[in-house]
Amino acid sequence: MFDKRIRKTVREGKMLKKGDRVAVGLSGGKDSIVMLHSLHEIQKDLPYELVAVTIDEGIKGYRNRTLEIAKNECKKLGVEHVVYSYEKEAGKTMDEIVEENPEDIPCSHCGVLRRYLLNKSAREVGADKLAVGHNLDDMAQTVFMNIMRNEPSRLARLNEPMLKNDRFVERIRPLQWTPEREVAIYALLKEIELERMDCPYARWAFRGYVREMLNKTEEKYPGTKFKIVNSFFSMEDALRGKFSLNAKLEVCTSCGEPCSTAGLCQYCKTIKLIRRN
Ligand code: SF4
Ligand SMILES: [Zn+2]
Repeated sequence: MFDKRIRKTVREGKMLKKGDRVAVGLSGGKDSIVMLHSLHEIQKDLPYELVAVTIDEGIKGYRNRTLEIAKNECKKLGVEHVVYSYEKEAGKTMDEIVEENPEDIPCSHCGVLRRYLLNKSAREVGADKLAVGHNLDDMAQTVFMNIMRNEPSRLARLNEPMLKNDRFVERIRPLQWTPEREVAIYALLKEIELERMDCPYARWAFRGYVREMLNKTEEKYPGTKFKIVNSFFSMEDALRGKFSLNAKLEVCTSCGEPCSTAGLCQYCKTIKLIRRN
């Protein structure tokens, strides 16, 4: 049942094709591990290559544990595994960034660094696709957060960047129609080792609030999360049409990556900020 849903998502979304090299964003949390197992299963019917990429943010007592799980699962399945760290790439661990910038929201820096490094690592391992483990709950939360923050232009590019560029590896979301609850059941059935601890900085996230709100709504009105994501996909073309007119792709003056504003990209701005001390 569970595998069927993922297979259908991959097939109907034309996410994978024979011969693709697929980078799996593997945090070591339940979603990404379950996605790795599932893509490993589908690989038996559709020949493609898998390589797992983990971004080590440098969060003691949390990421080192999930990193260990990620390593073990890759070994078990015989999947190549590469690790990129904030410490090596950005010069600071997330723990240092939080300590040195106590006023800032950790996730805002972390999100920028992770998105950039995931794309960079996928490109550097020669991947055609980057599979991310966003499940139905994550998708519904992101749609809602963009609406609550009045950021319709971000919502327009939720599924894919507004403009294509060779340096952006195409993202796929094989779990986008799978509720978080089902991912947990699958992990249990497959006896997948799980780390139940959440990131210690997650309590500051706006996402946590939206997550709770949607869980309560789903309890009372089952199917809400699915309807939110479905509504997004129904509106996607219209939204992209509205915002594509103003979309421009500049090149970052520091790292040369494509970005939406002239000057420094978000990653280089963050690097500048966190290295100022
Ligand atoms: S919860 Fe925030 S700080 Fe923790 S890993 Fe996720 S984005 Fe980074
Ligand atoms: Zn840059």
